[in-house]
Amino acid sequence: MEKILIVGGGYAGFYAAWGLEKKLRRGEADVTLVDPHGYMTYQPFLPEVTAGSIEARHVMVSLRRHLRRTTIIAGHTTSIDHAHRTATVRTNDGAIREIVYDTIVVTAGAVTRTFPVPGISEEAIGLKHVEEAVAIRDQLLTAFDRAALLPPGVERRRLLTVTVVGGGFTGVEVFGELLSLATSLLRSYPELSRDDVDFHLIDANNRILPEVTDEPGHWVVRHLEGRGGHVHLGTQVVSAADGRIMLSTGESYGNGLLIWAAGNGSNPVVARNTDLPVDERGLVRVRADLRVGSDDAMVPHAWAAGDNAAVPDLASPVPGARTVPNAQHAVRQGKLLAKNLVADLRGKKVQPYLHHSLGVVATLGIGRGIFQYKRLVIKGFLAWLMHRGYHVLAVPTWERKVRVLLVWVSAVFFGRDIIPLATVQRPRAAFLAGGDPFAGADDDAVSRPELSVVRDAS
Ligand SMILES: Cc1cc2nc3c(=O)[nH]c(=O)nc-3n(C[C@H](O)[C@H](O)[C@H](O)COP(=O)(O)OP(=O)(O)OC[C@H]3O[C@@H](n4cnc5c(N)ncnc54)[C@H](O)[C@@H]3O)c2cc1C
Repeated sequence: MEKILIVGGGYAGFYAAWGLEKKLRRGEADVTLVDPHGYMTYQPFLPEVTAGSIEARHVMVSLRRHLRRTTIIAGHTTSIDHAHRTATVRTNDGAIREIVYDTIVVTAGAVTRTFPVPGISEEAIGLKHVEEAVAIRDQLLTAFDRAALLPPGVERRRLLTVTVVGGGFTGVEVFGELLSLATSLLRSYPELSRDDVDFHLIDANNRILPEVTDEPGHWVVRHLEGRGGHVHLGTQVVSAADGRIMLSTGESYGNGLLIWAAGNGSNPVVARNTDLPVDERGLVRVRADLRVGSDDAMVPHAWAAGDNAAVPDLASPVPGARTVPNAQHAVRQGKLLAKNLVADLRGKKVQPYLHHSLGVVATLGIGRGIFQYKRLVIKGFLAWLMHRGYHVLAVPTWERKVRVLLVWVSAVFFGRDIIPLATVQRPRAAFLAGGDPFAGADDDAVSRPELSVVRDAS
């Protein structure tokens, strides 16, 4: 039996494995998928998780529940030696395993791009994983609790200051969603006022949302500023150390929550630990049919797609263009991977990848959004409805669609859930201290759960 190994069970990997399960005949191939998580993350919902509009677990699609004929290995692929058809995997229990395969499918996605700015590794939280979204939500909610105990002043404002670095879709969406959450939270905190809350969006370019044209991009800036946010364009963070943001403009302020959304970096396994061909950005070179290599030099038995691959964009009039890293492409590439792998196994013709963009849509917080398809631009409530409608249809499996929808519907009647779960980082505290979950906690451990995890690990 052909042994197919899929590295990464996100959009592209999950859809490839799902498609293979539907198409493969019994005994035709044996499929193994390696991913450190037991689930695929529906990343477009992460900004709404930070704002408490979607339950964290509802954005995760269980691999074992939906991939019943695939062998799932919980682990991190550390290197791929395609010449010897071997992948090395560090399983989640720390063991090292060598997996021998016939065909490899590389769908490990991208990582958050970072820069060597002082304070980033200690202070910033990315937004690619559900754990990060939950930590952001809990940190903001806990900051409100703590700020309400303080008199008006510098420390109270610092706690309620949020900085988002990166004006792409991720940065703008999380900024809009958190601004919406913070504004609505003020109703539950009579001790606090709008002046205590301070939001900064920072981008090194002179505009945000490169995926939309200039006018809607400017509209989004005006819209966010109209809601009290500060948008710093053509600006870089030069330091984030010790809870203080220093900008390239010379401005500086105390900061409570720092979210880093400055774009994609290449996956280290793909960029550095494989003998497959990679381009100058650290992406696997693939042909239009998603086989690794080029038209003149194809690498046999190797396929790749999604954010870790440089896929030719046949829909673009620009010669040499590659598909942009987004879910629209990753899903379709994953489905095509399954079709092409099966066709190849049966000695049939494989198809090239061709997809014309369906447009872009972003949430800017409850009731607000932006949509663009070619020259058609829709702003405000209708765009937000389109965002929700599109994504609830796009999240894989009916079970997840229904769960997400039910939470949205219940929020219409009861509002969003504003209870933080930061104390789950210290599950034994209440039990050891006679019921007080905060006993013995220093400030950071409770209000900044991601820091306490780092401390526990060290
Ligand atoms: C906050 C946010 C909002 C977004 N919103 C939108 C949107 O509205 N519309 C849109 O089109 N796109 C959106 N995107 C982009 C979209 O989510 C990505 O383009 C898409 O997830 C890429 O799919 P992928 O399969 O390539 O990678 P991923 O979905 O990231 O999956 C990669 C998988 O590989 C696993 N992995 C990584 N390294 C290894 C390894 N070494 N070994 C084994 N497994 C590994 C990871 O655990 C992960 O499960 C958004 C992204 C983010 C972060």
